[in-house]
Amino acid sequence: MEILSVNAGSSSLKFTLIELPFEKVVVSGTFEKIGIDGSFYTIKYNGEKIKKEVELKNHTDAVKILMNELIDMKILDSYDDLDGVGHRVLHGGDTYFDSIIITPEVEDKIEELFPLGPLHNPANLAGIRSFKEILPNTPQVAVFDTAFHQTMDAEEYLYAVPMEWYEKFSVRKYGFHGTSHKYIAQKMREILGEDKKIISCHLGNGASLCAIKDGKCVDTSMGFTPLAGFIMGTRSGDIDPSIIPYVMEKTNKTAAEIVTDLNKKSGMLALSGVSSDMRDIEEAYLNKDPRSVRAMNMYIKHIANYLSMYNTLLEGAEYIVFTAGVGENSDIVRKLLIDKFKFMGVKLDEEKNSTRGITGEISTEDSTIKVVVLPTNEELMIAKDTYDLINKE
Ligand code: AMP
Repeated sequence: MEILSVNAGSSSLKFTLIELPFEKVVVSGTFEKIGIDGSFYTIKYNGEKIKKEVELKNHTDAVKILMNELIDMKILDSYDDLDGVGHRVLHGGDTYFDSIIITPEVEDKIEELFPLGPLHNPANLAGIRSFKEILPNTPQVAVFDTAFHQTMDAEEYLYAVPMEWYEKFSVRKYGFHGTSHKYIAQKMREILGEDKKIISCHLGNGASLCAIKDGKCVDTSMGFTPLAGFIMGTRSGDIDPSIIPYVMEKTNKTAAEIVTDLNKKSGMLALSGVSSDMRDIEEAYLNKDPRSVRAMNMYIKHIANYLSMYNTLLEGAEYIVFTAGVGENSDIVRKLLIDKFKFMGVKLDEEKNSTRGITGEISTEDSTIKVVVLPTNEELMIAKDTYDLINKE
């Protein structure tokens, strides 16, 4: 079956066409600057990347061009050849525990959740509606970034705030990166043949940890929004909330502007003064730039705090899994972090850890917790959920 995995942003649309059950990526690409001057798209096929500039007034224009390209490139014979479309949707609130075939009711619910995901859900829905317009008979599936975390207990997801904030305004922890953590949980089960107690460390520009038991999320570090948790590329992670009204008064900024500062101008970017890109920070760290050394030490300490918390919550994790841009590529971050747990017998095989592009186990034989590098694949997870739901119908 040919399944298209889609991630629609406010001015972009990323796609990957995957053949299932073979898990073969056929073609992928991105439409960018949708609704803005200078729009273009890129397509990667058979090892080649093409780029074309074209006017894209809206997401529907992008979908039309995409479908026609797939036919022109003889990847599909007709629109009917596409068996399903899986859409990444940021927020499923506390309604969706799993992916779901999109019906008009699901569309309404995604719209109802706009206040919880104001930047993403509207764009995700625009993508869904564009595909529905061009491919009215093709099944479409919503895969929510929050769904995997819906197994959290109230003891994990409630905040200690007035209960009516939760009851009336849905203020609670939702967690994000669920599709990635779910992929890690499933892949680890596939590799090991059974569910183990895992701490999945999705360390990218955005980053979160997830404590997984019996293949289910027990707790995760992001919260009501992706701003919560530990220090990220440009996000602050957890801070004292009283800082917000204090800085609003000092700067005359609005709450929304402060939240933008916390999302875009904070984290490793603010601490290092160098960059939000871990490659730049690592270089400065190795050159002993004092701010980058301090930033890196803080980054590691904050993640180690969450790791310790989840180790306790799981009553002894069996696996620590590193994934996403930093987790998959930074042997320095992995070493600094795992060295914090040497005192309890968690040990890295330094040679394996420093092998470029390593996947698999990087801990020593006698390490008390096994440490693994496993590349995440959210596009495949979206396609697999879509394939499974279509075949269940
Ligand atoms: P993601 O959000 O998963 O795309 O990850 C993006 C982050 O991964 C950026 O901060 C990159 O600097 C980081 N990254 C990518 N490649 C490397 C690398 N080779 N070493 C260290 N960090 C990397």
